[in-house]
Amino acid sequence: MDTRDTNKHWLDKDRLEWLDENLDVKLLELYALYNISKVLHMSFAVDEIFNGTMDIIGKTLQIDEFCIMLIDEKSDELVVRAWYPTPVTLPDIRFKIGEGISGTVAKTGKLILIQDVTKEPKFMFYKGAKIDIGAFLCVPLIGREGEILGVFNVHKTKPNTFTDNNVRFFYEVAQQVALAVDKAITYEKTKEASLRDPLTGLYNRRYFFEYLETEASRANRYDKEFSILMIDVDHFKNFNDKNGHLKGDEALKKIARLLIKELRCSDVVARYGGEEFICMLPETHKDAAIIVAEKIRKSVQASKFDGGENQPGGKLTITVGVAAWSEDGKFVSELVDYADRALYLGKSRGRNMVCSKVAI
Ligand code: GH3
Ligand code: MG
Ligand code: MG
Repeated sequence: MDTRDTNKHWLDKDRLEWLDENLDVKLLELYALYNISKVLHMSFAVDEIFNGTMDIIGKTLQIDEFCIMLIDEKSDELVVRAWYPTPVTLPDIRFKIGEGISGTVAKTGKLILIQDVTKEPKFMFYKGAKIDIGAFLCVPLIGREGEILGVFNVHKTKPNTFTDNNVRFFYEVAQQVALAVDKAITYEKTKEASLRDPLTGLYNRRYFFEYLETEASRANRYDKEFSILMIDVDHFKNFNDKNGHLKGDEALKKIARLLIKELRCSDVVARYGGEEFICMLPETHKDAAIIVAEKIRKSVQASKFDGGENQPGGKLTITVGVAAWSEDGKFVSELVDYADRALYLGKSRGRNMVCSKVAI
């Protein structure tokens, strides 16, 4: 038998063309993946990753539209974090875990392919934001430890256009995206934690000073005013001695919550030291800052603290020193020193008061 006959189908023109074409597709895919993973791993922050990669992913994958939704830890919902083609503003579309196709994928960790969305009752057309989608692929974004971070949604305007190869390839891309996002989330969490005080969750002193320096130069440049409040808990050594350190910690946490509640969103509050807190009130004149300080003082005095009855006067209280930029200091150190001295005067005059002067 002629062996050339047996191998004939491997050698015929159609077969060769088919092989050639598939090899080209494979090479293109590999090249695209290489490019995508290269840009994905260049950034450390989640939004930076998306800013730098959406176009590259879109163009190399040759898809009409795709979006990345990540699980927001606070609300435990899927939130749109990136969209291609990039819109002026991202649509505020949210899915609960388990809701619609994206929510189901985020819950199960298994991809869903819909070749014709008009035939899928679970498809929610992004809650009305999209109506003209033909085929839809939703791939989970799975982190290094197997946790689900979000979903990668690919849309094609024509139904029945996802091939097996497409699906496999988008799955690979989603894995690359997930690894980069995972790395960025870890980085962001570590960075955020390094700015916070672990007991109260408030900013720490280091962050506060960095922030204050920036604000002070801004205030100088634009001739703006701001004030700071230095807060110290009265007789806190006594509180610990009478009630124990744990109850002391609880009291500090409660004061931190009160400060957040009483201050505006634009104000910045930090734990300055052991039982000391510091606040920065942007665009606030000294008179207005004194009113805010008095409100905080009253709020602490009126709150019930477990063990507060063992304090002198039967209540846990604070003393506050107020200083205003730039009348009380033309450098950050000078301003903080003024607030500290005002606080000290308040202590020497009997505590549980707001003091905005350094001498009588
Ligand atoms: P004054 O009214 O003059 O401020 O008196 P004070 O007792 O508050 O001041 P002092 O500086 O003598 O004591 C501060 C106390 O704060 C002593 C310290 O044990 C306590 N403290 C500092 N940090 C913490 C903390 O993280 N947790 C607890 N429970 N106590 C703390
Ligand atoms: Mg103190
Ligand atoms: Mg104290």
